[in-house]
Amino acid sequence: MNVDYIIVGLGLAGIAFAEELLKHKKIFVVFEDNSQNSSLVAGGMYNPVVLKRFTPVWNVKEQLKIALPYYKSLESKLDQKYIYKIDIHRVFKSIEEQNNWFAACDKILLQEYMIPKIIKNENEHIIAPFDSGKLTHTGRIDVNSLANDYRKFLISKNLLYEEKFDHNKIEFLKKKVRYNNVKAKRIVFCEGFGVKENPYFNSLPMREAKGELITIHAPNLKVDFLIKSAIFVLPIGNDHYKVGATFNWVDKTKTPTTEGKNELEFKLSSVISCDYKIVDHVAGIRPTIKDRRPLIGMHKKHKQLVILNGLGTRGVMIAPLMAQKLFRNIEKGEQLDQEININRFE
Ligand SMILES: Cc1cc2nc3c(=O)[nH]c(=O)nc-3n(C[C@H](O)[C@H](O)[C@H](O)COP(=O)(O)OP(=O)(O)OC[C@H]3O[C@@H](n4cnc5c(N)ncnc54)[C@H](O)[C@@H]3O)c2cc1C
Repeated sequence: MNVDYIIVGLGLAGIAFAEELLKHKKIFVVFEDNSQNSSLVAGGMYNPVVLKRFTPVWNVKEQLKIALPYYKSLESKLDQKYIYKIDIHRVFKSIEEQNNWFAACDKILLQEYMIPKIIKNENEHIIAPFDSGKLTHTGRIDVNSLANDYRKFLISKNLLYEEKFDHNKIEFLKKKVRYNNVKAKRIVFCEGFGVKENPYFNSLPMREAKGELITIHAPNLKVDFLIKSAIFVLPIGNDHYKVGATFNWVDKTKTPTTEGKNELEFKLSSVISCDYKIVDHVAGIRPTIKDRRPLIGMHKKHKQLVILNGLGTRGVMIAPLMAQKLFRNIEKGEQLDQEININRFE
């Protein structure tokens, strides 16, 4: 079989690149072995503001310009709802933080998203003695449903191999590669933390961060916005909330742990005061990079091999833009920005 591209991995990165290929009528197949699950467990929030420091997210305007239309188009194509607009209430820890909030609201890049007033806490189950500030134009993408639906979509078109891609089986031909019976012009690796097993790209400096998340049922909480305090409490409907997430730079497994759950419960006790029951607990590895920028580009020696990785903690907003930039780089020769190009580590 002859194709233009093989994609390895069907998380947020692989889906975004597959969409670029479909848009440009390129022929491709995908390999996916369920070895990683960052996209499947993600909270799915998109939020243009760094909530610790009240600064804009890197490249925020460019990212948002294409991210929402992209998810809207996936809603139409797969005939499902994935976008849920949800405001964020950032709980203040002190009077000083309230002042910092107002200072940040004056900044041009943030004005659109940060409301310059203090939101009084009127919910007896939320612990917020210094009240909170509200962010708008934020929301959640139901990434788990999207990823599962997208797999079904590719299966229906016979484009998905549900198996491990074995890097040792790549044969290099003149300007092409062969993998089993598939001949392709390029292989695009969208493997997330799975890149550690990729001999062509595993020397890139990933600083992966495991994250755990619980889902709770809290019928008395009655909140329709995300509470961001020591952790986030994100409403997902029917009195259920995702609560997360932890950061662990040592454990490299995607197994949920008792320590992770205890940490989340401990932090949750400083955010809400009502009863709840844990109904789910998941974990995944975020593909974060030393300098917190994506990893995009071609292999130095084998130009047929390409990587789309390093989406870090914000894959929802970054993936569509990075897929577009990579496609234009490969097909139209457009330069990649130095700060995302893998050659910055050579
Ligand atoms: C707990 C948690 C909460 C998060 N919350 C948010 C959030 O609220 N908002 C946000 O924007 N981001 C969030 N993230 C980050 C987000 O999940 C990531 O940025 C994004 O999912 C990375 O996508 P990816 O496609 O690069 O990697 P992945 O989702 O890991 O996908 C890689 C895919 O490649 C496959 N693969 C790997 N190797 C092979 C191989 N050899 N053969 C075949 N298949 C292979 C894997 O099975 C996997 O499906 C969160 C992450 C975690 C862990």
